[in-house]
Amino acid sequence: MRKTIIAGNWKMHKTVAEARELAQGLVNGVKAELGSAALPDIVLCPTFVCLPEVLTTVKGSSLAVGAQNMDYRDSGAFTGEIAPGMLTSIGVSHVIIGHSERRQYFGETNESVNAKTRAALKHGLIPIVCVGETLAEREENRTDDVIKQQIKAGLAEISVEDAAKLVIAYEPVWAIGTGKNCEVNEANRVCKMIRATINEIYGQAGGTVADGIPVLYGGSVKPSTIDEQMEQSDIDGALVGGAALKVEEFLPIIKGGAKRHQLSASRA
Ligand code: PEP
Repeated sequence: MRKTIIAGNWKMHKTVAEARELAQGLVNGVKAELGSAALPDIVLCPTFVCLPEVLTTVKGSSLAVGAQNMDYRDSGAFTGEIAPGMLTSIGVSHVIIGHSERRQYFGETNESVNAKTRAALKHGLIPIVCVGETLAEREENRTDDVIKQQIKAGLAEISVEDAAKLVIAYEPVWAIGTGKNCEVNEANRVCKMIRATINEIYGQAGGTVADGIPVLYGGSVKPSTIDEQMEQSDIDGALVGGAALKVEEFLPIIKGGAKRHQLSASRA
């Protein structure tokens, strides 16, 4: 059975006080509305400065906390960077790697994504590795090639045992923050293709390691889209930006994830 994961990427939003309020609202909301129901993995990814406050706020709940980025090195003269060991030292469990905004505005490449993914795994962080095509690449019918390349380069020199710990997020760049969703059947097809690519890399074309790797969809996920997305065979959760910033929008998305989680648990 694959995990269902609902992750919120808060990007460069929220002061520490606002982050505390949002995290508290989600803790309360999950408790009140989902009670003792089996929950998907819920991961909040605030800015670096808000991590300690959000960690304190979610303590004792089932919510986890992730960073939005990190450096791949352990320490050194790298002004402005944060090392993986610094994240684990405060209790961060997940890290988003290679978000398209990092690739687009901060020069991240498949190679830096690979270095960061390996570093995260070495430090026991769960990497949420983002892949996705631009609109131009989709219009040129290059979606699958681009994503296969991102996956192959991003996972280079990662052992099969470590690959089993990964989470992948398929985020078509043109759907992020635009209000446009990738049509569900197409999103499901790409998530399936990602899984097949990973199995191929490990010489398991018929499928094994990637059958256990959660592949999330991200790109303008909203309360009104989540149910249909969570009904797909190969979409194991969501990475959510804008709609993760308000309790009243993120809570219904968590509930959509909970439905999928409970359904897969009952089938396992
Ligand atoms: C994201 O930031 O990963 C994202 C998918 O954003 P949005 O949900 O706002 O499109």
